[in-house]
Amino acid sequence: MRYSGFRVLKEALTGHKGWRPVWRDPDPQPHYDIVIVGGGGHGLATAYYLARQFHQHKVAVIEKGWIGGGNVGRNTTIIRSNYLLDGNEPFYEFSLKLWEGLEQDFNYNAMVSQRGILNLIHSDAQRDAFTRRGNAMILNGADAELLSAQQVRRTYPFLNFNDARFPIKGGLAQRRGGTVRHDAVAWGYARGADRRGVDILQNCEVTGFRIENGKCLGVETSRGFIAAGKVGVAVAGNSSRIMAKAGMRLPIESHVLQAFVSEGLKPVLPGVITFGAGHFYCSQSDKGGLVFGGDIDGYNSYAQRGNLPVIEDVAEGGMALFPGLGRVRLLRAWGGIMDMSMDGSPIIDHTPIDGLYFNGGWCYGGFKATPASGWCFAHLLATDTLHPTATAYRLDRFQRGRMIDEKGMGAQPNLH
Ligand SMILES: Cc1cc2nc3c(=O)[nH]c(=O)nc-3n(C[C@H](O)[C@H](O)[C@H](O)COP(=O)(O)OP(=O)(O)OC[C@H]3O[C@@H](n4cnc5c(N)ncnc54)[C@H](O)[C@@H]3O)c2cc1C
Repeated sequence: MRYSGFRVLKEALTGHKGWRPVWRDPDPQPHYDIVIVGGGGHGLATAYYLARQFHQHKVAVIEKGWIGGGNVGRNTTIIRSNYLLDGNEPFYEFSLKLWEGLEQDFNYNAMVSQRGILNLIHSDAQRDAFTRRGNAMILNGADAELLSAQQVRRTYPFLNFNDARFPIKGGLAQRRGGTVRHDAVAWGYARGADRRGVDILQNCEVTGFRIENGKCLGVETSRGFIAAGKVGVAVAGNSSRIMAKAGMRLPIESHVLQAFVSEGLKPVLPGVITFGAGHFYCSQSDKGGLVFGGDIDGYNSYAQRGNLPVIEDVAEGGMALFPGLGRVRLLRAWGGIMDMSMDGSPIIDHTPIDGLYFNGGWCYGGFKATPASGWCFAHLLATDTLHPTATAYRLDRFQRGRMIDEKGMGAQPNLH
């Protein structure tokens, strides 16, 4: 079924009896050409582009829970391409371009909203760093604009401009950045992949890999063995656990990241603001809630919930930037498991095991990467070559010393 205004009108006039489930619930087949482990944003996008772009239709996505139950449905929905390094910026700009055409492409309303993102500047040194970053963005074909404190004040008059520690001295704006309704992205990709013949197997946990003579022959699951020509793993926060079953130790640690949403308010925040000095960021959802977050909890965890010290820390950051926040009631808080890599950048690559491919290390920035990650992983699985925008995301870069350390933090996954 194609969605359109005409379809909505027709269904409204005929008692909404024509809507069909958005994807099927098939039984697993004994063999697929390609099996994707993990039905998050990245796994579903990979399956979608495998079918749409690379004409691979004998594909399954295996998800241990339900579609949208992982980080794809837990993030703070921000999209942007404001990176500095050559290994990253072309990839994230490719992703932003895919976001711009996504809803027409998969015929689903994902509420892509290019309301702009603003990184606040609090010192002269930070202005220099953001100027450099803005120039790198422009050189890579992205948009970037340096704003004065007066320009920021015009849009966000209620921010604390004269804070003693972090006075606001301007900002780096990317007007094409913004937000996207996160779970609709999972549903849109799932529907688009299903329509092209991909089997989406929910409530099916991958418990191991069948590997013989250095080749991966398929996956062991809670619903039996499924043979596959190729297996692609995209399980985000569970990457280390799954890849350990193939005998691999990854340069990744899992940490919990929390997010928060307030009660609904009248429109107050037109775009996304980030307060790097205090680590707090905020946007307003279309329902009116202020959606915000800050640092990861800072200890290794596989729990999808966090602890009170970080809630206090995020609230402190929020109050320093945006004192009016103290009058707003918090509605919900939740957590997701982040696959924090050693240099803060992702991995999309072959593994040393023939037929086994890996996608992960997205840290807390993988939502914006969803379309490009899916496209590049599909490219790798279908052609066995790296996509031109993702050539730096190799697994062996940690051995070869070719890190993509966007923040310059070194091997400190909890600080990236
Ligand atoms: C609070 C929070 C805020 C964030 N904010 C942003 C943001 O504003 N912008 C941004 O760009 N990024 C953000 N992120 C990061 C982003 O959400 C993630 O990097 C990205 O969603 C990870 O990829 P995914 O969607 O494929 O992950 P997931 O949705 O987690 O998908 C992985 C899937 O694998 C499944 N799985 C695991 N083990 C198995 C198994 N054994 N068998 C089968 N299936 C398995 C899981 O159930 C899960 O559904 C945020 C994350 C969190 C938690």
